[in-house]
Amino acid sequence: MTGISHLISKRAKSRQSSHFTNGPSEQPPKGFKPHEKPLLLSYGTPNDGFFPIDSIDVNLVEYPFEHQQKFNNSMENLSISEKNPNSVHIERHTKNPNLIDLSKGLQYVKVEGHDPLIEFTENFIKRTHPPNYDNWSSILTTGASDGLNKACDAILDPGDVILVEEFTFTPFLRFSDNSGAIPVPIKIDLSNDSNGIDLNYLENLLKNWDTTKLPKPKALYTIATGQNPTGFTQTLEFRKKIYKLATDYDFIIIEDDPYGYLTLPKYQGPPKKNQFELKDQLTLEDYLTKHLTPSYLEIDDVGRVIRVETFSKLFAPGLRLGFIIADKSINLVIKNYAETVNRGSSGLAQTVVNNVIQDKLGGVDGWLQWVLKMRATYSYRKDLLLQTIYESKAYEKGLVDVIDPKAGMFVTLKIEFLKDDSDIILKMKELLWKVISYGVSVVPGHNMTVDKEFSKSRSNFFRLCYAPANNDYEIIESGKRLTDAILEFYENGEKF
Ligand code: PMP
Repeated sequence: MTGISHLISKRAKSRQSSHFTNGPSEQPPKGFKPHEKPLLLSYGTPNDGFFPIDSIDVNLVEYPFEHQQKFNNSMENLSISEKNPNSVHIERHTKNPNLIDLSKGLQYVKVEGHDPLIEFTENFIKRTHPPNYDNWSSILTTGASDGLNKACDAILDPGDVILVEEFTFTPFLRFSDNSGAIPVPIKIDLSNDSNGIDLNYLENLLKNWDTTKLPKPKALYTIATGQNPTGFTQTLEFRKKIYKLATDYDFIIIEDDPYGYLTLPKYQGPPKKNQFELKDQLTLEDYLTKHLTPSYLEIDDVGRVIRVETFSKLFAPGLRLGFIIADKSINLVIKNYAETVNRGSSGLAQTVVNNVIQDKLGGVDGWLQWVLKMRATYSYRKDLLLQTIYESKAYEKGLVDVIDPKAGMFVTLKIEFLKDDSDIILKMKELLWKVISYGVSVVPGHNMTVDKEFSKSRSNFFRLCYAPANNDYEIIESGKRLTDAILEFYENGEKF
């Protein structure tokens, strides 16, 4: 029993995990001695000689958009199939214990994942967000979505309450719903220097909780760094206050952090550099100590934080690969659930990620060097988009305001003239038609609410994501189209 086992759901506690290949559960008869070299006629594991793939070569780039830069420089397209010196060869068999060979990577494996990759995720967390207690572990998932669904299953029973930031990654509501839980929105403070969650609101809500209406909350779901959709990042001091509430009112914190490693400096005027020159701008030690915002794991001393990570944004979403760092008792019930739903993540995805990181990038610090290049590129893109907005007529006239994010891939564009409108959502919908007609897509805040009515008066914003653009031109052009559309809507008497 640990300090938080009373918070594990009844459903998760009741699952048993045993496999039909296990030996008899009784004590062996007297005189039994295990054989030194037992042979397998039990498992349905095809011998790796049956696998059609003999080896895989993974060709890497050294930095994001490398081919685009080469194209720009030479004005001739370099084909990706050109011989790449930066490649990883994955063999059917290897003796290197840090690598996953194909005989293992294409084979069934324990649901927690392959040992070298689990070990990598543990070392990675020790380097970036060292947990403040010992009894934690890592389990691989098929991405943050899977991780969040499993976190919900681990703690939420039907009728349990989970607190959710009012504007959020709404697929999460499907996961909490899957456990039969009731999401209760927490106000977000949308002022420009905010930490996201409105602390006063949360404190009052918890203090005055009426248990005759709803049971006390079992958990809080928060995207604490580079929040989706608002872009806010909670400071360490702020997290300590939230964690104290979690202790006082005894709830779990599900910390979802797909974007936190993409730290972004504040806008300092038009980005002067070409994005490709930014790649080596920060040292690893500066990044770790001065830029990366500490995780709730670094405060937690009893295991009430479930940290959900993913390789989707830093490596590639199609891998469907992520991991959860949590108290061992929580990861045990998550493992049992994984046996039910998906038996863990793809061995091939694990093999590619693990071997690229171990064999080519050089482990944890090498992987972080790649992350630094990613964050430099995102930082450049963010500033380019902000510059376009700051230089627009709509901004000059005070029609819009922006939240400059400290991490992630989202800028919030507030529509100032709709701030006190009596029907913000109706107006935002009409404005969205104008924006679409100008040829740019954005996400209106009201599409990402837990409860539209609750958040109506704070829904006068669009979420802008600078991740998908192909190049600088598209970022600048979409910023222009967007602000021009808003200006026209305003000048047209707030009508299409
Ligand atoms: N959480 C948040 C906050 C996200 O924004 C996303 C993806 N957009 C996810 C989770 C899902 O990530 P994954 O692709 O790893 O399932």
